[in-house]
Amino acid sequence: MVVRVRIDRRKCVVAHFCLFYAPTVFIPILPDGKPAIAEQYRVDGNIEEGIVPDSLYEIVKEAERNCPSGAIKVYRE
Ligand code: SF4
Repeated sequence: MVVRVRIDRRKCVVAHFCLFYAPTVFIPILPDGKPAIAEQYRVDGNIEEGIVPDSLYEIVKEAERNCPSGAIKVYRE
């Protein structure tokens, strides 16, 4: 089972809870400091879409739960 993670960077309000809960998956990038999916998890180089191992499900789910703008979506597939 894999876990798909999406960030809608247009909704992001740069609260950075995602970086706190899942620092191995979400990294801040310039120029705006909004998070991107860490390079090794990106799907086709897309900074807003990633696939992470199931072992990271709880931390990305925690980031989804705590994101104040609803910018993060996490799905188990
Ligand atoms: S927790 Fe949500 S609003 Fe905050 S930086 Fe992450 S994606 Fe953006």
